[in-house]
Amino acid sequence: MALIVQKYGGTSVGSVEKIEQVAEKLIAAREAGHDVVVVVSAMSGETNRLIELAHRIAENPDPREYDVLVSTGEQVTIALLSMALIKRGCPAVSYTGSQVHILTDDAHTKARILDIDESRIRDDLNAGRVVVVAGFQGRDEHGNITTLGRGGSDTTAVALAAALQADECQIYTDVDGVYTTDPRVVPNARRLERITFEEMLEMASLGSKVLQIRSVEFAGKYNVRLRVLSAFEDGPGTLITFEEENMENPVISGIAFNRDEAKLTILGVPDQPGVAYRILGPIGEANIEVDMIIQNIGADGTTDFTFTVHRNDYERALGILTRTAGELGAREVVGDDNIVKISLVGVGMRSHAGIASTMFKALADEGINIRMISTSEIKISVVVDEKYLELGVRTLHDAFHLEQAPAA
Ligand code: ADP
Ligand code: ASP
Ligand code: MG
Repeated sequence: MALIVQKYGGTSVGSVEKIEQVAEKLIAAREAGHDVVVVVSAMSGETNRLIELAHRIAENPDPREYDVLVSTGEQVTIALLSMALIKRGCPAVSYTGSQVHILTDDAHTKARILDIDESRIRDDLNAGRVVVVAGFQGRDEHGNITTLGRGGSDTTAVALAAALQADECQIYTDVDGVYTTDPRVVPNARRLERITFEEMLEMASLGSKVLQIRSVEFAGKYNVRLRVLSAFEDGPGTLITFEEENMENPVISGIAFNRDEAKLTILGVPDQPGVAYRILGPIGEANIEVDMIIQNIGADGTTDFTFTVHRNDYERALGILTRTAGELGAREVVGDDNIVKISLVGVGMRSHAGIASTMFKALADEGINIRMISTSEIKISVVVDEKYLELGVRTLHDAFHLEQAPAA
C-alpha cells in the first residue's frame, strides 16, 4: 500500500461537476489500495477575482489582509470536495493550511514553508479518511494567515509529500504532462516521458508555469518523487527524475519563456570601480530582483550598463535608476517593458557545442533581433521584442526538432 499526495489545480476543480470527477478519481485511488492526501487550488478564476476585489479597495492592499482574502478560494474547494467524497460513502475531512500546521515565515503574499506538523494528517489516514488540504496557504508563528505566491498549491503538495514521506506526489492539471514547451504556444509540442529535476528547475525558473518553482526546489531538497498528469484523461504523465547519469539525454529538453520582463539601460556612466554597485545597490534596497545584467566594454572612460527586472517593478526601477543617473552624471537612462525572454534548457548542452550558434542563426533567419544573451551550463536565454515571442518559440522548437522524440 502506497501513500500518495495528489494536487488538483484550478481548472481541474473549476466546477461542481469537475469536483465530483475528482472525488471519483480519489475513490479509485483508494480502491487501488492507496492512502490519499489531496491538495486543491481555488476554482479557476477565483483567485484572480479576489485579487481584483482587493485592488478595487486599495492600490497596494495591506499584505496581511490580502492573504486573509485570497486564501479563501481554496477553503471553498476543500469543503466541496470533502462533501462529494462523503456523499459517496468515502470518509473524508478537509483542513485549511493553518489547521494542519503549515508553518511559514511572515512574508505575506510570498511566504515560504518552514515546517509542517503532519501528525494530525497521519491520525486521519490511520482512521481511513481521505485528507483534503487547502493549497497555497499557511500561517506564520503568530497565527496570521499567509499565502505562498501564485501557483503555490504545487508547493503545498510537494511539502506535504516530503513531510509525510509519501511514495509519490502527483500534480494533476489541464495538460497531460510537462511538454517541450507550452502547448498553448506550440501546438506540436511533445510530452516528455521524463525530465530531470535540474531541467525542471530551470524550466520553472525561466517561466514555465506548469509547476511553481518552489515546488521543484522542495522536491529536489527532500527527494520527492514528482509527477505531472492530466486531471481529465488517464496516462503516465511526466516523471521528474533524479537519475540523469543513467539516461541518454537529449541535447535540448525544452523551451521556456517569460513575458514578465522589462529592461533598463543607463548610458555613459563613468567606467570605474564600484559603479555596478552604485547602480544596482539602490535597486536591491528597494527589493527589486534583477535578472540579467550586461556591462559593455568602456570607451572614453564611460560605459553602458543594462539589466532586466520583473515587469511589475519596471516603473519603480526606472525612477530609481533615473535618480542614480543624476548622481553619477550618466548621459541617459532608457527602458523597454515590451521584451520577453526565451530560453533553451537541456542537461545535454554540457557535452554539446554549437547549440548557441544554431539558436542565433534560427532567430536571425526569421529576422528576430536578439537584445540580450545569457548562458549557464544547461541553458541559453535571449531577450527579444515581445512581438516575436510566439514566432521565436516556434522557430526554435522547429530548429531543434523538439516535436520528435530523440532516437533511443
Ligand atoms: P493549474 O491550475 O493546474 O495549477 P497551471 O495553469 O498553473 O495549472 O499550469 C498548467 C499550464 O501550464 C498549462 O495549461 C500550460 O499552458 C502551461 N505550461 C507552460 N509551460 C508548459 C510546459 N512546458 N508543459 C506543460 N504545460 C506548460
Ligand atoms: N489559487 C492560487 C493561484 O491561483 C494557488 C494555486 O492555484 O496554486 O495562484
Ligand atoms: Mg499552477
